[in-house]
Amino acid sequence: MFHTFLIKYAEIGIKGKNRYLFEDKLVSLVNRALKRIDGHFLVTKEAGRIYAEADGDFDDEEVIDVLTRVFGVADICPMMRVEDLGPEKLREQVIEYLREAYDDFHFTFKVDSRRINKAYPGTSETINADLGEALLEAFPDLRVDVHHPDVKVNVEIRKTGVNIYSKVIPGPGGLPVGTNGKSMLLLSGGIDSPVAGWMVAKRGVIIEAVYFHAPPYTSERAKEKVVDLAKLVARYSGPIRLHVVNFTDIQLYIYQQCPHDELTIIMRRYMMRIAEMLAEKNGCLSLVTGESIGQVASQTMQSLVCTDAACTMPVFRPLIAFDKQDIVEISEKIGTYETSIEPYEDCCTIFVAKHPVTKPLLHKIEKSEENLREKIGEMVKTAVDTEEVIWC
Ligand code: ATP
Ligand code: MG
Repeated sequence: MFHTFLIKYAEIGIKGKNRYLFEDKLVSLVNRALKRIDGHFLVTKEAGRIYAEADGDFDDEEVIDVLTRVFGVADICPMMRVEDLGPEKLREQVIEYLREAYDDFHFTFKVDSRRINKAYPGTSETINADLGEALLEAFPDLRVDVHHPDVKVNVEIRKTGVNIYSKVIPGPGGLPVGTNGKSMLLLSGGIDSPVAGWMVAKRGVIIEAVYFHAPPYTSERAKEKVVDLAKLVARYSGPIRLHVVNFTDIQLYIYQQCPHDELTIIMRRYMMRIAEMLAEKNGCLSLVTGESIGQVASQTMQSLVCTDAACTMPVFRPLIAFDKQDIVEISEKIGTYETSIEPYEDCCTIFVAKHPVTKPLLHKIEKSEENLREKIGEMVKTAVDTEEVIWC
């Protein structure tokens, strides 16, 4: 078993002057992720690399599971780190590495050495040839293939020692959470919004969330489902502060005062307004929704125009051009799908018209909203003031 993991990152390598901020963030996120498991890892950064070195026992799969959820990580390489004891010993060290790393040696390979310590004898070509020969002698089943090897044995000869690794487990990519501001996610119990939140977090954005709850029309269990979803997204994004807003009175009032075929759209506009208020209060610079063009009546182009006009903050809709099937695939991959399809409604059926408008006109919707003038301001204020905050 190898006690060190080499953690490579891609995109943050190109951030110029701010590079160290991204690196430090990633180091601290890797640290936080590994703290939750056994192994006492020491996480360090060195020349564009991050190393996590364990000094206790740990479960390999658990480490990989945790690291594949840290955005910003491009590759995870279990690695053997040895002292530089010269060419003769290096042959033995590389043989020992391979013996530890594999059980079956029916594969093609090549050695890819990097002589970073220029004082080391030979050239990388001669080192490759020498180590390749040593491996062929030690493992007769091996074959060399320099163009398309099954296994590339990386040998990095540094001043601080020699790194040997060949297994490369893809990380999630993206940018470290906390390097790109904060957004307010409108999180429902559906399939789409958790995926939208995950996608934005993957770009380094801290996620805060708001859920509009309508008791007794929506059940306590529906709320718990949203909490569960937030926790699942938080496995990637880090802790999410979930604002639960009681939306019942507002929904009933809209139901009483406005044409029923416009209910959904007007409701959505009030969700956006309240989300924006909470976003401003909590230092979020934008809103995120799980909307996608044409998915349902409230997401036709015309409906989106009306929803978008309700607030001034930028609204990010990462799924806007995704087909449902593609969204489902992501939700399966990130582990939210099973929870999303639990049968608890997030919006009571009495509030949904049989034939909602599919091509609402903004000026007409605004006209209908005038019917709400008398009480809506106070109701929105109450809804915001009585929010419940749950850390997920
Ligand atoms: P989802 O699968 O995310 O629930 P959906 O396909 O059911 O989406 P809608 O119900 O039209 O679509 O909702 C569109 C978006 O509005 C959601 O993706 C979410 O961002 C937001 N939204 C809808 N209902 C709520 C709610 N009760 N609380 C918070 N946000 C909501
Ligand atoms: Mg929904």
